[in-house]
Amino acid sequence: MSKTIRTPFCLLVAVLVLLATDVVPAVGQIPGIITVFEGARLIPGDGSAPIENSAFMVVNGVFTAVGQQGVVTIPPGAVHVDLTGKTVMPTLVDDHIHIGYRKGTSFSADNYTRENLLDILDRFAYFGIAAILETGTGRGDLPYKVRAEAHTGARYLTSGSGFGMPDAGPGGAMRDAIYGVTTEAQAREYVRELAANKPDMVKIWVDDRNGTVEKLRPDLYRAIIDEAHRHNLKVMAHIVDLADVKDLLRAGVDGFAHMVRDKDVDDELLALLRARPNVFFLETLWGERRAIYTSRPVWLDDPILRDTYTADDLKQLAGQFSPDLAANPQAVARARTMAATSLRNTAKLYAAGVTLGLGTDTGGMNGGQFFGFGSHIELELLVTQAGLTPMQALTIGTRNSAAILGLDQLGTVAPGKSADFIVLDANPLDNISNTRRITKVYLRGEEIPRAALKAKWAALGR
Ligand SMILES: [Zn+2]
Repeated sequence: MSKTIRTPFCLLVAVLVLLATDVVPAVGQIPGIITVFEGARLIPGDGSAPIENSAFMVVNGVFTAVGQQGVVTIPPGAVHVDLTGKTVMPTLVDDHIHIGYRKGTSFSADNYTRENLLDILDRFAYFGIAAILETGTGRGDLPYKVRAEAHTGARYLTSGSGFGMPDAGPGGAMRDAIYGVTTEAQAREYVRELAANKPDMVKIWVDDRNGTVEKLRPDLYRAIIDEAHRHNLKVMAHIVDLADVKDLLRAGVDGFAHMVRDKDVDDELLALLRARPNVFFLETLWGERRAIYTSRPVWLDDPILRDTYTADDLKQLAGQFSPDLAANPQAVARARTMAATSLRNTAKLYAAGVTLGLGTDTGGMNGGQFFGFGSHIELELLVTQAGLTPMQALTIGTRNSAAILGLDQLGTVAPGKSADFIVLDANPLDNISNTRRITKVYLRGEEIPRAALKAKWAALGR
């Protein structure tokens, strides 16, 4: 209710401020304050049909009117932007990211610096990703400090440090970032410590890493979930096994950072999920790309990759699809079986009406350094491998992913939402790979300086 009162008041204040600061009108009465984008095919992001020949207005970084050209009333003095022939979609949100460790081809805790975090947030913005969630591998206070900064990149949400058994959570350079717990009292104490920083989600790892580490015990995750809920925090679990997913649901978990990968989902799981309609799953298909593709993906030749990544990065990426993977045929066969199970389960859960969100694991062990690009490939995999329509995949990547993180201002192009959108040269409803035909990205009503970013990365050898 306060929102409906506040919005016109803010607008009035902004107009008065503009007049008071004597901004000279270039055209009309109140230029700069009202911008109308006209002529594009608009995909609203809520699953509804695209609006052909659309017009939408942006005032102070917020959409104020959205509809068809000729129907939306344009006040005199508005700045007009012609988008004829283009397609507009909402920005994406990626709910499963490990930011900071990857820098070029290196993977190290030494890379976890403010400068690298901000650079990665710019990379996401370049690709039209308006917000990301760092899932449990934050280091110290830095994530909270950077989260609070005004910057030009994607919005930075963080789980801070996640939870697992000691020395048994995330892999590689990220291993020491989490709280290792052994008692319920300790688990509750650490959740209270974490809660003081107001994390955007709590992350737990429930995985024995193919029998190599101890899996987080059910008594411990029950204590974590209960304590998190006392602090109004949601809990997202890294999982592999169907049996763990079922027990976590009984323990009250809010969502899953991956798909069920060991077995096909069954009626018992679907019944548990029907009782918990807000529970979400992220698929992390990008993270499993090596096991999904049996031949060289055509997107390795996508020009957008060369905008942001070095020849060394691209060589590393291409090498992940080379046939010498067969050096360890048993591991390859196991990974392929798990990936196929993930894809079947993604389709089954979607068909059952379960909430799916976009999450890629980019920056983690298998996600690599392809921040932003991976989020687009995840959408493509949802269509080409899991059998969803482009519209269904887009809705997962926009509205659903924003809603999972409670980002009410993102996810759709609609009046009252933040003016975050992507302008494309081709229609992703015709071919989902067209989400990568990006010509412009706007965050909070401001165009991201993509040419300058591209030049910056080129100067770094990227
Ligand atoms: Zn992860």
